[in-house]
Amino acid sequence: MFPDRIVIIGAGQAGLQAAVSLREAGHTGSIVLVGNEPGLPYQRPPLSKAFLLGKIPASGLDLRGSDFLAAQRIELVDGDTALAIDRASGNIRLNSGRILAYDHLVLATGARRRELAAPGCDLPGIHYLRTRADAESLKERLEGAKRALVVGAGFIGLEFAAVVADRGLECTVVEAAPTLLGRAVSRATADYIRVTHEARGTRFLFGETIDRFVAGSDGHLSGAVISSGEFLGADIVLVGIGVVANDELGSTAGLSTDGGIVVDARLRTCDPAISAIGDCALAPHPRAIKPMRIESVQNAIDHGRHLARVLAGADDSYAALPWFWSDQGNIKLQIAGLVQGHDRTVLRGDPQGGRFSVFCYRGDDLLGVESINCPADHMAARRFVGTRMAPQSTQVSDESLDLKLLSATA
Ligand code: FAD
Ligand code: NAP
Repeated sequence: MFPDRIVIIGAGQAGLQAAVSLREAGHTGSIVLVGNEPGLPYQRPPLSKAFLLGKIPASGLDLRGSDFLAAQRIELVDGDTALAIDRASGNIRLNSGRILAYDHLVLATGARRRELAAPGCDLPGIHYLRTRADAESLKERLEGAKRALVVGAGFIGLEFAAVVADRGLECTVVEAAPTLLGRAVSRATADYIRVTHEARGTRFLFGETIDRFVAGSDGHLSGAVISSGEFLGADIVLVGIGVVANDELGSTAGLSTDGGIVVDARLRTCDPAISAIGDCALAPHPRAIKPMRIESVQNAIDHGRHLARVLAGADDSYAALPWFWSDQGNIKLQIAGLVQGHDRTVLRGDPQGGRFSVFCYRGDDLLGVESINCPADHMAARRFVGTRMAPQSTQVSDESLDLKLLSATA
């Protein structure tokens, strides 16, 4: 039933999950997992949290050990890049010169950092955060740093701002949009997150971009001039302005791409022998108006699992509920569903007390729920959104009502 030789390009969260799930589903043929980063597959979330805070070492990031991979007969080819796909012969050419033949090919190539083009952007002290290597050099640079400048108030920028506040640095965040996490959360949640960061000393400048980075007389970074003309002194800069899908391997092989590798509801590209999963995949989702790339661990894992089921012969469409989390100092944000496009919100709990949830509706449909420091609300919300049961506004705002019990009836 399974294609015999399966090659997976990209040894990140999605690629590794697909390999593991294929074995769990009973695939007995070969699995080769090719990754261009050195070493074992690792998890990225701690890079902007526990790792930077020194709470876990680099070795604690690995997702699975080499013994596990060997026992599962998953061949990891690390530090090598897939350069070209020959679809006619079913071969992949690697940078090392190795040719890998496949019966089914999985593209799990993820995404890379979007680069900021501004004069001075090559100065030492300007960092990005996508890979373990990025995190190691950022952590090193943080030692002795006093003033941080963050470009982009997305997930990376905010998690980093929380880390530097914990470490006692001054921090300014420059964001092009009028609000933080503008495409990810409701206004109520964005406002709470801003105020909480501000209370810890972080300054936000919205509607601003970097005009140029400036070097001091010693040639090192001394700060940046922003679009308003203000000079912001800094000895470390983190740029977190989003990512770009690694879809070029697919597009040069003639696969359909559109800011991501286009797949159908079974995660197949226009070539039935090739699938795409994780951050690189532009996939339809029953909860989204149009195909989208979802950049999250949950999506990478559930794509990997679903693909294994499809390759085992299942014919169902991918429909796993999207959910997200972000830890920013004393803020634990959890989101169930996709809240974009909501037209009203209902609050449960008290933002002043630092624990609340925002239920985001479009009409009578509950699109998603954002919870701050309320894991129980989040678990109930996953059930509501997952089963499309929308509690009434009065039920949501009544804190004496047990949401867990109510969601159990869904
Ligand atoms: P990736 O993790 O990008 O892995 C793809 C791999 O493929 C990469 O190693 C890439 O180098 C490799 N590759 C690309 N092209 C080739 C090629 N041609 N040949 C060989 N290898 C190739 N998500 C959450 O849900 N919660 C969080 O708290 C969270 N925190 C994050 C913190 C940070 C600092 C970052 C960077 C991301 C975070 N994310 C978080 C996002 C999450 O990590 C990603 O959505 C997830 O890693 C996507 O997995 P992936 O396997 O699709 O892609
Ligand atoms: P992101 O969440 O997309 O946020 C990027 C932010 O930068 C957006 O607010 C964007 O505004 C802004 N921006 C864009 N260009 C700018 C410019 N020139 N100047 C100032 N601001 C600018 O991306 P990210 O924070 O860089 O994260 C990268 C990836 O890691 C994403 O896939 C993200 O999901 C993932 N990640 C996830 C988590 C988590 O889930 N907890 C944590 C860390 C990282 P616009 O929206 O207006 O473009």
